[in-house]
Amino acid sequence: MPATIHIMPPELANKIAAGEVVQRPASAVKELIENALDAGARRITVHVKDAGRAFIQVSDDGSGMSAEDAALSIHRHATSKVLRPEDLERIGTFGFRGEALASISAVSQLELRTRTALDDVATVVRVDGDTVREVTKAAAGVGTTVIVKNLFYNTPARRNFLKTRQTELKNIADVVTRAALAHPTIAWLLVSDDETFLDLRPGTSQERVSAILGERVGQSLMPVEERTDYLSIEGFLARPEFARRSRTEQYLTLNRRPIQNKMIAHAIFQGYEHLLINGGFPLFVLDLTIDPARVDVNVHPSKLEVKFEQEGTIYRMVLSVIRKTLAANDLVPRVEFRDGNAVNGEDRFHLVPDIPPAPVFAFRKDPGPTNVVDGGSILPLSMPASRHAPAETVEHRQGAARSIDADARAIWQIQNKYIVSQVRSGLVIVDQHVAHERILYERVLANFENSLPAIQQLLFPQTLELTATDYALVRELEEHLRLLGFDIKLFGKNTVVIEGIPADVKVGNEKKILLDVLEEYKANEHAEVMDARDRLAKSFACKAAIKAGDPLTSNEMTVLIEQLFLTKMPYVCPHGRPVVIRIPIEELDRRFGRT
Ligand code: ADP
Ligand code: MG
Repeated sequence: MPATIHIMPPELANKIAAGEVVQRPASAVKELIENALDAGARRITVHVKDAGRAFIQVSDDGSGMSAEDAALSIHRHATSKVLRPEDLERIGTFGFRGEALASISAVSQLELRTRTALDDVATVVRVDGDTVREVTKAAAGVGTTVIVKNLFYNTPARRNFLKTRQTELKNIADVVTRAALAHPTIAWLLVSDDETFLDLRPGTSQERVSAILGERVGQSLMPVEERTDYLSIEGFLARPEFARRSRTEQYLTLNRRPIQNKMIAHAIFQGYEHLLINGGFPLFVLDLTIDPARVDVNVHPSKLEVKFEQEGTIYRMVLSVIRKTLAANDLVPRVEFRDGNAVNGEDRFHLVPDIPPAPVFAFRKDPGPTNVVDGGSILPLSMPASRHAPAETVEHRQGAARSIDADARAIWQIQNKYIVSQVRSGLVIVDQHVAHERILYERVLANFENSLPAIQQLLFPQTLELTATDYALVRELEEHLRLLGFDIKLFGKNTVVIEGIPADVKVGNEKKILLDVLEEYKANEHAEVMDARDRLAKSFACKAAIKAGDPLTSNEMTVLIEQLFLTKMPYVCPHGRPVVIRIPIEELDRRFGRT
């Protein structure tokens, strides 16, 4: 029998390898950029024509190569970056496979022009689908320029497989953008068919993020910085309101290498839990720094995926740093409410939101008055929670702060919709409905967590006939509804009896609120990211909260604000809408021309 196995000729092997490394023009751009970064470039320019299909040129001012290295570099497995097997255990460069130039040149017409500081002239190498056509000398500055023409000209299948010009260009822009975000001290230029896409001067990370994502996003970013021996996390989080419809604007790098990682993305998403509008993806720019020995970057041909040694540790750290940042940062600025009349200068309530989550709620099982004690009040804001026993809790949690005075002078309601108050740093305006929604939402979550419902038993149980669907839904959610505060008996024949309602609900409203909550719950059905409890909590909070148009006494307003700032996230409602707007005094001064 003649032998059927043979060793491939190198051209064929290279073409096959190229299939893995160079899937599209953007992958060639990515590899060439990595080489420029590894060469220590300070300025990297990328020019493409016809979305990279006709022409790609990447130039850098890095170390350059000697004539000898230049000739070698285009061979497969030619690399200056790893020498011994041990080197693979801790990779400190972006490249290491020694495949990029070989792969790209196997499927294009490639020209390399390179010069080191030690040489007077540059070496030019021309390769044409694996054949070195020419090695010459030319005048050029220190650094390297690689030109790739007619990518995939000799692999028609791959060429035909390319997406639209628009898509390929978007991919290229994405590659350069990610690299530019990860390397703010490097100057970048991206030009496509004479149109400049990016022209970035070196700067700080903050400046780079603003230049790329826009001033509006840039100015509202929350910096993240957390260092441990094992892992450092640095970068920026955008406020929840900047959440995107897709993951495309999640910029994650590991040791400054752009990566994709579902585990980390999930930890970040989890950190934003309850803050995002249904289904949104938070926008962030984060770099993780980890000892290269503790991560394997050699698990993916284009090195987009990595494998961590301790996934659980990383997950927990990322999650906690996200939560901490969101709770402590400008999203939840340090707000100090101050009594305008206080003579001793002591804060009436000194609210420091980065105290541990401290919902001060009454977990009462017994029926009791829920309304504010001052006569005319219509709103069941649970005053007892802050007025009686838990006042000490407030005091305890707030350190030197005193509990609230019944008369709150520096507080006004505007159009029965907004609450305006003076704070030390200026003025805050609170949307009363969303503020109450946030309070109720967290209270319900706490009830779920502690299995301690705050139920007020009804003197006169209410019988309610439901549709078959709603009846089934109540049956399905029975346990959750009970934790929420609804004491409901299923009577059969689509009939339920409401024997108790959540402490926050006004007696007399029990039927309506239950129906509203069911309605809202059904309406939220599409939001598959929410679990049943969360959906129920949101639905309840939305329906049970005071509405725009409800007049409030000053006492109610004070308590509302006090309770709001005891929530974990006073600044955004469960649906991601802002709850508080703060106008700093400087802003007022500016507007009145005082500065
Ligand atoms: P790898 O980056 O994995 O080593 P490449 O095929 O991308 O493999 O490059 C091969 C070698 O050529 C590199 O190891 C490096 O020494 C050299 N090289 C490639 N591009 C550049 C560049 N822009 N500047 C300096 N040296 C380069
Ligand atoms: Mg490389």
